[in-house]
Amino acid sequence: MLSNNNTQPWSQPEGLLSDDKPHEECGVFGIYSSDLDIARLTYFGLYALQHRGQESAGIAVSDGKNIKLHKDMGLVPEVFDDDILNRLTGKMAIGHVRYSTTGSSLAINAQPLVVHYSRGMIGLAHNGNITNIAALRRTLEANGSVFQSTLDTEVIVNLIARYAQSSIEDAIMKSMIDLKGSYALLVMTEDKLIGVRDPFGIRPLCLGKKGDDYVLASESCALDTIGAEFIRDVEPGEIVIIDENGVSSLRSTNRAEKKTCVFEYIYFARPDSNIDGYNVNLVRREMGRQLAREYKADVDLVISIPDSGTAAARGYAEESGIPFEEGLLKNRYIGRTFIQPSQSMRELAVKLKLNPIVPVLKGKRLVVVDDSIVRGTTSGRIIRMLRDAGAKEIHMLVSSPPVLYACHYGIDISTRDELIAVQKKIDEIRDYIGADGLHYISLEGLIKCFDKGGQKGFCTACFCGNYPIEIPEEAGKFVFE
Ligand code: SF4
Repeated sequence: MLSNNNTQPWSQPEGLLSDDKPHEECGVFGIYSSDLDIARLTYFGLYALQHRGQESAGIAVSDGKNIKLHKDMGLVPEVFDDDILNRLTGKMAIGHVRYSTTGSSLAINAQPLVVHYSRGMIGLAHNGNITNIAALRRTLEANGSVFQSTLDTEVIVNLIARYAQSSIEDAIMKSMIDLKGSYALLVMTEDKLIGVRDPFGIRPLCLGKKGDDYVLASESCALDTIGAEFIRDVEPGEIVIIDENGVSSLRSTNRAEKKTCVFEYIYFARPDSNIDGYNVNLVRREMGRQLAREYKADVDLVISIPDSGTAAARGYAEESGIPFEEGLLKNRYIGRTFIQPSQSMRELAVKLKLNPIVPVLKGKRLVVVDDSIVRGTTSGRIIRMLRDAGAKEIHMLVSSPPVLYACHYGIDISTRDELIAVQKKIDEIRDYIGADGLHYISLEGLIKCFDKGGQKGFCTACFCGNYPIEIPEEAGKFVFE
């Protein structure tokens, strides 16, 4: 049972409705078309990518001469209305949704960024995190650059502008040699839309087609939403150029071994997206099957912590032959602005978000599947709720290995101190959250889930500490204020 005597030596987020999940930094969407309503299509594309960032949203459009921009804090439907979209006319657009990990949560840090440079105007939208940003910024400042925001994206745009004596493609190619870290970038000039994926391909980016027009997006679900056909993923280290001549492609000279973030498949990406040849939902199901091969439980039912644990829970049920049931109902209408309840209303707050279906749970021995336990802030409350609903036995299964290291590539796991698996052994975590059993998928088991087709090569650094890109000592410490 959950003990009240547990002391917590690590810091935990204050919000009682904290979901104890890592958060993605951003989503990007771009379209090139002289016929279509590009602002509205970008709006719909960003709507489909809203799960990748809820703090701010923005769209920049180019009419061939000028770039117009609208961006603000808030969700996509809060930032745009019909009047704003009607004003955003042109032949190409880039859009961005943001959750901040680098740079404060301020309107000035919203994207896309649009700047004037020696050859005209340039717009830029970025998903990822540049690890050598402090050194790059110091060099640029020493050479006369000034910065308005705390974004690493502003450093990227400065770098590209500095190299742009010949062509934008050449400037991007040169910038890619200087930039270390993860980036899926959309760059827009007055006449070109360009997609760039970092040499390791850490963040996803894909290319689609709607009629004769081309689209770039962080995830394929955004292509589906606007009725575009998926063509292919942008390759690690690839620069895709879309202009009046169609699509062309260049390869960066510093292409590396592919290391796509495995957490995109575990939790971040939408289940209906396909990344590098794998459908996210099917991979999650396979993770559940793998959990069943690794941990056999003598229980009556498999339930999930909705929604992110559901595909893996179904996989566990399929492999083990134990029935899957919905045991927790998720309230989908709790927005970001929900007032944090007082301490005395802590349990009520959890029930606002998740409510147990008592007749399903009463007297049952359960396997409960979740995708990750990062700080351990909510698992104990959920298990207590299940016991209050009459569950007799609870085995918590997690479809990611224990998170043991910080992420420097665009996810908000910035320090090891906040990670429960660093502070406690697995049996201590089990006791702390009040479960009868606790099992995390093994790292080898997780990688086996990608055996069927698709491209291999994943970053797993937050589980094993093996960082594919060297981390400068000052990474994560640098604050641009
Ligand atoms: S460290 Fe973890 S969260 Fe970060 S990119 Fe690698 S796998 Fe993804």
